[in-house]
Amino acid sequence: MSNFGPPVTQVRVADLESDAYDALVLVATPKQKISSPVLSRAISDALNLDPALKTEIAVLPVSLPAKRLVYSPTGPIDPDYDDLRIFKTSAVAGIKRALKSGSKRPLLVIEENNYTNGKLVILLGALEALYTPIQVREHDPTKEHKVEYLGVWTKYVEESNKLAQLALILETGRRVACDIGDADPERMAPPRVEEYVRSLFANTPIKLNVISDIQQISKEYPLFEAVNRAASCQERHKGRIMFLEYEPSESVKETLFFVGKGVTYDTGGADVKTGGYMLGMSRDKCGAAAVLGFMQVVSLLKPKNVRVVAGVGIVRNSIGSNSYVSDEIITARSGARIRVINTDAEGRMIMADILCRFKEEALAAVNPHLFTVATLTGHACLTVGMGYSIVIDNGPAHKQMHSKRLQKASDDIGDPFEISTLRKEDITAHQGVAEGEDIVQGQSKPSSQSMRGHQGPAAFLLLASGLDKHGSGSSNPLKYSHLDIAASAGHLPSPATGAPLLALAQSYLL
Ligand SMILES: [Zn+2]
Repeated sequence: MSNFGPPVTQVRVADLESDAYDALVLVATPKQKISSPVLSRAISDALNLDPALKTEIAVLPVSLPAKRLVYSPTGPIDPDYDDLRIFKTSAVAGIKRALKSGSKRPLLVIEENNYTNGKLVILLGALEALYTPIQVREHDPTKEHKVEYLGVWTKYVEESNKLAQLALILETGRRVACDIGDADPERMAPPRVEEYVRSLFANTPIKLNVISDIQQISKEYPLFEAVNRAASCQERHKGRIMFLEYEPSESVKETLFFVGKGVTYDTGGADVKTGGYMLGMSRDKCGAAAVLGFMQVVSLLKPKNVRVVAGVGIVRNSIGSNSYVSDEIITARSGARIRVINTDAEGRMIMADILCRFKEEALAAVNPHLFTVATLTGHACLTVGMGYSIVIDNGPAHKQMHSKRLQKASDDIGDPFEISTLRKEDITAHQGVAEGEDIVQGQSKPSSQSMRGHQGPAAFLLLASGLDKHGSGSSNPLKYSHLDIAASAGHLPSPATGAPLLALAQSYLL
């Protein structure tokens, strides 16, 4: 059964001479070697006529059955500062141009380039350009597929097969993340996220457990319950905590625990967002969306030695008579007494108790590493600019150079991470001051107006979950990394990106 789940683009390994295609699409670097003499001639003739085509996209006539070539040049590549995204951008532009020309059966021509994964990123870009958002296809099912199928050509058929197989798995995961992340606050309200996820993972290797009972939530996940309080007055907005688990077929060498922030809409709560800052807050569920998409990749790739556990908090940060408010003191699952400072800092609240549960489980797991994935702070966007995820390691993860390895992997697949560092003052800033409070939840001002506004939440999560007791000096050190994806998840009206799913897959699965 699969009522939900993203459409899969049909990919066929193809020959350049095939008459089953109506356009060839080529991403070309400067001085690109072209295998086909026919294409090579068409391109050099066009460049002689119009040197601007070194940087401009063009549709050229070719004497092959497809008849037209969409030539999409990368333009000059700076070996020091450009990265793989230059290929993705050109592939997206090429496919979009082919669609504009009326193509329904494009054939992507992937020539050699000098970059690890350069070919994979070109194919991923093409597939990304062919995705139709869930609310478009549910409104008009005839728009589900932008093409009948996509052809792929490389010099070697075997390589084309492998590329197509891997790219489809990664893109299917990304589409899951986009379906959930992109949809509006009602289409992906918590019960409907549950419906989608149940349908998606039915009859797969992924075990799913959904918690919706308010009594259980308030007993086991009290910080989540505080955020869920206002929303739970409406049946259709009631929160969900979902746990997903994958057990590998062979011996476990590493256990990954992912916590995802899934705020289906963030009004700010009682500290309501004003001045137009609420617009776009349906994207505040992109952390959970990326984690769920990653589980889809796990489900399809079936890694042999990696166990993956995920917990996502799906909740609407509503405003109403039942809202949680600042000054409240709530006892977290870890036992720590948390003072609420600002209800708009809800992401860390919904993740801390799930992280605490994973901390408990990690103590008995093989080589565990815990993660939180969240569109957490406006400060992240100011710090690194749009398009970049941020990783912040705790002490034990830092000692193993984790963030450096993740950054390298992220660069190798064009889904880049920047590295931030957790410092003593981040931890000090969250320690309680008034008698009876152990931890303060945040600062009174928005992160974008606060010093170290994106590092602070990592410190809060460390303290509130009790992970601070598992540092390098303890008898049971646990690796933990906080991933802030506020700048990479995609802001309206741009599409959701699925970041950092590709980087995570490259780093831990491929
Ligand atoms: Zn918020």
